[in-house]
Amino acid sequence: MLPVVALVGRPNVGKSTLFNRLTRSRDALVADFPGLTRDRKYGQAKYEGLQFILVDTGGISGDEQGIDAEMAEQSLLAIDEANVVLFLVDARAGVTSADIGIANHLRKQNKKVYLVANKVDGIDGDSESAEFYSLALGDVLQIAAAHGRGVQQLLNTTLEPL
Ligand code: GDP
Ligand code: MG
Repeated sequence: MLPVVALVGRPNVGKSTLFNRLTRSRDALVADFPGLTRDRKYGQAKYEGLQFILVDTGGISGDEQGIDAEMAEQSLLAIDEANVVLFLVDARAGVTSADIGIANHLRKQNKKVYLVANKVDGIDGDSESAEFYSLALGDVLQIAAAHGRGVQQLLNTTLEPL
């Protein structure tokens, strides 16, 4: 069985961009419209010799009240079936209330969760990522999914323990 890695996070943080980079597929919808990817989307990822199943999700919106409402069923199912969860946040946007709601949910799961600050291209990644330590999910891993920066290191860190 290949390990299953789920990408979760509020819309527009770059989940589908990372999915497409790792699966080299055009199947996941990447757009400037938040929430466009509505369903879980599976891809077989092959990256520098690492193989795993990647699950893209589109369903966590920060607008509803309460974490059960915030986490769409697709995302909850994706988290359930994953060996590893990559929780993406937007380093440019900073911590949002949706991020806090998702983090609160993920901390209660008996899952390995990695916090990933995306879009660190062209900004000071260390200082822009610092505030995400307040989400209390441990280290903040920095990537630029659109350009591939940090992606190899992310995979080494997250897949090695499996
Ligand atoms: P999703 O809703 O989480 O799946 O986010 P998408 O993958 O659709 O990306 C949302 C927007 O962020 C798109 O306009 C992407 O081009 C942009 N984006 C994704 N990754 C990066 C990145 O590493 N750097 C920058 N600057 N923009 C990115
Ligand atoms: Mg998407």
